[in-house]
Amino acid sequence: MDTTDVVIAGAGPTGLMLAYELRLAGVEVALLDGLPARTGESRAGGIHARTMEILDQRGLLDDLLPQGRPIQAGHFGGLPLDFSDFNTRYPYTLAVLQSVIERELDRRATELGASVQWGSPVTGFRQDATGVEVEVGGPEGSRRIRAAYLVGCDGGRSTVRKLAGIDFAGTDATVTGMIADVELADPPAQPFFGQRGDAGDFSAVQFEPGWYRLVVQRHDRVLERGAELTFEDFRDNFIELAGTDFGMHSPRWVTHYGDAARQADRYRVGRVFLAGDAAHIHYPAGGQGQNLGVQDAVNLGWKLAATLRGNASDELLDTYETERHPIAARVLHNTRAQTALSRSGPHTDALRDIMSDLIDIDQVRQRLGLMITALDIRYDTKADHPLAGRRVPDADLTTEGGDTRVHALLRSGRPVLLVLGGNDVPAIPQWHDRVEIVTAESRTDRWTIPGVGDIPCPGAALLRPDGYVAWAADDPTTAGLVEALTTWVGAPA
Ligand SMILES: Cc1cc2nc3c(=O)[nH]c(=O)nc-3n(C[C@H](O)[C@H](O)[C@H](O)COP(=O)(O)OP(=O)(O)OC[C@H]3O[C@@H](n4cnc5c(N)ncnc54)[C@H](O)[C@@H]3O)c2cc1C
Repeated sequence: MDTTDVVIAGAGPTGLMLAYELRLAGVEVALLDGLPARTGESRAGGIHARTMEILDQRGLLDDLLPQGRPIQAGHFGGLPLDFSDFNTRYPYTLAVLQSVIERELDRRATELGASVQWGSPVTGFRQDATGVEVEVGGPEGSRRIRAAYLVGCDGGRSTVRKLAGIDFAGTDATVTGMIADVELADPPAQPFFGQRGDAGDFSAVQFEPGWYRLVVQRHDRVLERGAELTFEDFRDNFIELAGTDFGMHSPRWVTHYGDAARQADRYRVGRVFLAGDAAHIHYPAGGQGQNLGVQDAVNLGWKLAATLRGNASDELLDTYETERHPIAARVLHNTRAQTALSRSGPHTDALRDIMSDLIDIDQVRQRLGLMITALDIRYDTKADHPLAGRRVPDADLTTEGGDTRVHALLRSGRPVLLVLGGNDVPAIPQWHDRVEIVTAESRTDRWTIPGVGDIPCPGAALLRPDGYVAWAADDPTTAGLVEALTTWVGAPA
């Protein structure tokens, strides 16, 4: 029987990101996918600021940015939200196809030694006190892999979730979205075009030269999951709402989806975890699902690595669920609200008018925008500082080795103790093997926390590998730091 540290079921964006994180930390992985090969299909068409930051923290963004197109605004239920004044280097939505993100993550995970084993569906598992025995099907018969952990990144119909007996409660679909990726003989004048109609919305978006994604959202019918939608059906629906088919032809992909919103009630059963769509599904309103999955992976990866390699306690693994479950629950909640806001009819029109007025109020726009972009996340790290639990701002720094910025310090995926303003480095010799210590000057005296405002730049901060602040202090001593290191990095050596 083969052995490894972690079996990852599913090589979508979530599984790929997790594989990258684990390999970066030197953890052995088996990255399995049931499909014979990647389909090249793209459900998602964009990523938000926090995901761009997370990718940038690992040096994965530079190759991706030129393959996408920045769009200054996002939306809430179709009502425009301006992100341009958000305190991030990426105050926009990046329109980039999921297939491009998967290709890039696949390439980078493969470079680190985690290439996808296609045609390898996880079909069963059995766990005991020391590991998980995973059963893998495939054209050449079944085989078994023994690992310390199994992570189900196997999408909304997750086999791992079902086998683990994890409940997936939520609400059923009430609307249907339909997509066709097509060529247009008679395209609309603008590359992004959308309108509301009596029975639903329709839009046309040019992601790449040569083809458009047409979307119809019908508020008056629900297509069963798995029901066939032909190109002709799609065209009929589009014409019914838009009054034209823009000369659509040569379909590459036609599909439909609903607004069922469900969430796993647990993300962990012993040595088995769920991440990404396996843990939560919802309407793609605001384009949040892939972002959630990538961020789940980046929350879980270093915790698994610290437990396997770094002497961390098993309780660190429990924080994956306590931190990430509420974040996805919030997304389900906001997508339900967005679906309600998108319906047709005079009642919804009135609600949209009022919401539109409210969004003109800066605080409302910020609250909604920071939620959609996930820039406002605050985990409970138990430390007492305005930065604790929040994403560390990407401040410009000067170090002995030259100019840099905070997020660039996270490339190695290791925790970082950042000591600023000429403060002495707190004595933490028992963690020197696991923590990078960086002394620097911040080029600004004040740091901006999105949605909160400016605070004085701290004297020191312990940064988790995912870019969230475990501990910070204005006058750093070892008080509080030792506790934070023990919790987030592991017991002293
Ligand atoms: C129309 C639409 C538009 C969207 N737009 C956006 C957007 O703009 N922005 C955004 O952030 N999100 C968007 N999403 C959501 C996004 O596509 C998903 O959230 C994302 O694909 C989830 O990634 P994942 O890796 O968790 O799961 P998936 O992408 O579903 O990948 C799961 C993988 O697991 C494999 N698998 C399944 N079963 C097994 C098994 N038993 N063993 C091994 N492998 C298995 C599958 O073959 C697949 O490769 C959209 C979704 C839809 C439907």
